[in-house]
Amino acid sequence: MTVIALDVGGTQIKTGVLAPDGTLTHGERWFTRAERGPDAVIETVLACATELTRRHAPAAVGIAVPGLVDEAAGTSVFAANLGWRDVPVRAWLAEELGLPVAFGHDVRAGGLAEARRGAGRGCRSFLFVPVGTGVAAAVVLDGRPLLGGRGFAGELGHLVVRPGGEPCPCGNRGCVETLASASAIARRYRRATGGEEVDAEEVRRRAEAGDRAASAVWSEAVEALADGLAATVNLFDPERIVIGGGLARAGEPYFGPLRAALAERLTFREAPPVVPAELGHQAGCLGAALLAQDLRTGPAPR
Ligand SMILES: [Zn+2]
Repeated sequence: MTVIALDVGGTQIKTGVLAPDGTLTHGERWFTRAERGPDAVIETVLACATELTRRHAPAAVGIAVPGLVDEAAGTSVFAANLGWRDVPVRAWLAEELGLPVAFGHDVRAGGLAEARRGAGRGCRSFLFVPVGTGVAAAVVLDGRPLLGGRGFAGELGHLVVRPGGEPCPCGNRGCVETLASASAIARRYRRATGGEEVDAEEVRRRAEAGDRAASAVWSEAVEALADGLAATVNLFDPERIVIGGGLARAGEPYFGPLRAALAERLTFREAPPVVPAELGHQAGCLGAALLAQDLRTGPAPR
């Protein structure tokens, strides 16, 4: 059966169509334009889903959204970059489209996709950790992303690794995200040098070229992430750690030091392999599509 999927982000809504043979075709992207306010974003999501439904006559719809998500209730509890609070996304979409709707968290949907079709294949348990503007995680146990008591599991980016450190938008201080995200790397480098704003990739290039401020910021980012990963490994003992998001594209200059820093922190055990994600930007959309397919068929056997 054919299903359609939407991966709603702060900037864009990615869309896809999953054919009965398992092929995902990417559809057009719609702009979220969150500055118009929460109701306008909901209208855009409904319009996008309606258009996809008209074109593809799907049997079900999958949607993944960021932020705090109550998957059981089908509600976006809080999504700062969409302006949403307690939005009953699943019920509204189902009513608008007259179709079954699967609703999930973007990172957990990405983790599900990596579990079935990406770098988590063959693992019963692994961590999927996208490192981009923020840092998040899906803790995949027995092939399924852990939801937690209220659907909030996986906030690796908000583990405090530098008590009393830099303030984090979450209200705490010294979270992993304040050092390890791509935006933190850019911000901290600019602060250290007083110069122009450059992105994390450029900071890495400058570090490799011998820029001391860039090296320091890059190392601090790697160490903060390793602190968060070590804590998570000690709790869940994953077989593998799959790193996604923009920073994973840096390759060995990122993965080499990260593996070393993790091994150093896991004093009484071997570190699990740390590998790059395989699905890139597709992961969330594919995950949402797989959730929709599962509505009709049940989860694929492992
Ligand atoms: Zn935080």
